[in-house]
Amino acid sequence: SSITRQRLVLGNWKMHGNQADNATLLSALAQGVQAGGTEVGVCVPFPYLAQAQQALSGSTVSWGAQDVSAQEQGAFTGEVSGAMLTDFACRWVLVGHSERRSLHAETDAQVADKAKAALAAGLTPVVCVGETLAEREADDTLAVIARQLAPVLALGAPAVSRMVLAYEPVWAIGTGRTASPEQAQDVHAAIRQSLEQLGAGGVRVLYGGSVKAASAASLFAMPDIDGGLVGGASLVADEFLRIAAA
Ligand code: PGA
Repeated sequence: SSITRQRLVLGNWKMHGNQADNATLLSALAQGVQAGGTEVGVCVPFPYLAQAQQALSGSTVSWGAQDVSAQEQGAFTGEVSGAMLTDFACRWVLVGHSERRSLHAETDAQVADKAKAALAAGLTPVVCVGETLAEREADDTLAVIARQLAPVLALGAPAVSRMVLAYEPVWAIGTGRTASPEQAQDVHAAIRQSLEQLGAGGVRVLYGGSVKAASAASLFAMPDIDGGLVGGASLVADEFLRIAAA
């Protein structure tokens, strides 16, 4: 039950930020998040990992990245390895965000390879799945989620147990159009069922897509929604802190 899964709220800064703005935001988070409540983390652009590490060390806020290479090391210009992320004490890495899937043509198999590489490096992959509006309107939502998850679940229960999943309907990302708590819960329940079948029912499943302070509490109250993956609203300290407190 959700009672045994600690609530988690992660910020996804996407390609936003600069050292001056980050300093303000990170120090507000370091001061504003109390121990013992919802677990809170931020996934920042690669160049700011060192800044996040410095600003958040000693606080209860954890940090991570937004992508990782499936490769360990070598001639992969522009790529960043899991070992590099743990070198900056990252806890999290987003894997298969819809913007990576749609803008960088990441396949379901590549997403699973990245999740595997993240685990091997000691990171917690946050594997993102979600349907487009056309897929929802064609009644394909659960089939799309199942297809996206298949190679990830095929990594087996011991691996999947060390992951976090995020359901992010593409039509809700950055659009201001949040899924209703019931719409989200329907999909989360299906994901939970797959996890339980695998023997990994304790995995946390976050909801993402235009989560705001005003919508967070009703989403997080659903039995299979274990927290949020927050884009735009994670760039505003006060809003993000209110989501974490929801
Ligand atoms: P949003 O982004 O909260 O701005 O909709 C969520 C995400 O893409 O992770």
